[in-house]
Amino acid sequence: MELNKYPKWFILVRITRFLITKFIPHRLLYRVNARADTLMLSMSTKKRHGVWTLYCINAKQSDEFFSMCESALTLLFHSDPRRYQRMRSLIRNIVLTPLGQDCFDHISWSILINNYDPARPDLLAITFVHESTHAYLRSKGLCHNDNPRRHEEICLKEEFRSIKRIMTASSAFTEDQRIEALQQWQDYFKAAMESEWWKPEKRDLVIADALRNLHKRID
Ligand SMILES: [Zn+2]
Repeated sequence: MELNKYPKWFILVRITRFLITKFIPHRLLYRVNARADTLMLSMSTKKRHGVWTLYCINAKQSDEFFSMCESALTLLFHSDPRRYQRMRSLIRNIVLTPLGQDCFDHISWSILINNYDPARPDLLAITFVHESTHAYLRSKGLCHNDNPRRHEEICLKEEFRSIKRIMTASSAFTEDQRIEALQQWQDYFKAAMESEWWKPEKRDLVIADALRNLHKRID
């Protein structure tokens, strides 16, 4: 999904927020970020689904995104009720917004989705599992910045447990296909945990890059 498909107001909100946070005292950051989030959500297309409010900043894409969220949540409900329940008790909003990566926002208890594959509700369900695990850790008073690598490891392991459940619940796989697919997922997780990306200083670079790209597209 290209950033230039997004409405101009959204790009303006992102850039204004970025510029303001560069120049204000640290103690005001929380308030400014919360205000920018509120503004962004109030201008988005929204839909209520169960306990969640789904937001899409691009009205033209909202039907597709909302139906993807509903399919992913239904999949979790049937194949992994415990993690579905975690989503239900901790997450208030699911928001499609291009930040360069998916993330959990503890100010509004939201999952922010960067992008999704319209043909793969299972991948969106796994993203929900990852981000709601961040919410769970936060609800226990554990702050991501204190030990990012450990937090990401826990979230990845939760993803893998959920993938196993989703694949076991699906009758679309033979036993051999299931074993092969799980082996591929396991390799993916091992590689992810060993990659440079998981080092905290690299995470900061990813966010800085996302913001720089935001500027480039506007010029
Ligand atoms: Zn994470």
